Amino acid sequence: MGISKIVMGLDDKPMWASIERGAMELQKCGECGAFRYPPAPVCPHDLSADAEWTPVSGKGTILSWVVFHKQYFEDHVPPYNSVAIELEEGPIVVSQLRGDEPEGSWIGQRVELIYAEHAGRTQHFARWLKPEAA
Ligand SMILES: [Zn+2]
Repeated sequence: MGISKIVMGLDDKPMWASIERGAMELQKCGECGAFRYPPAPVCPHDLSADAEWTPVSGKGTILSWVVFHKQYFEDHVPPYNSVAIELEEGPIVVSQLRGDEPEGSWIGQRVELIYAEHAGRTQHFARWLKPEAA
């Protein structure tokens, strides 16, 4: 069993560097303005290769979540969760919720990305944005 590793494709380096700095950037299409994830050489909407690395807000909504009770990696000791987050900018990223957890279903809960050391590098995690008390 190994630790989880970065998968570094040809277009991934600027994204991982921005995560290391604690402020994730994604490619924003110069043609239609769509953010894309994972990084890719062209926009999936219009095939434009024109893009600029642009910081994302880090805020988003949980689309789906799961708690793993089996260990797959040395650095992920069960139980641990994975959350699929739709960022305000559109892309869906998978992260891990840390800290306080919503009761019941997590779907639709607002979160923001935070950054922390894990397995010898900076990684993004999610922090629950509790709804304002009524
Ligand atoms: Zn585009």
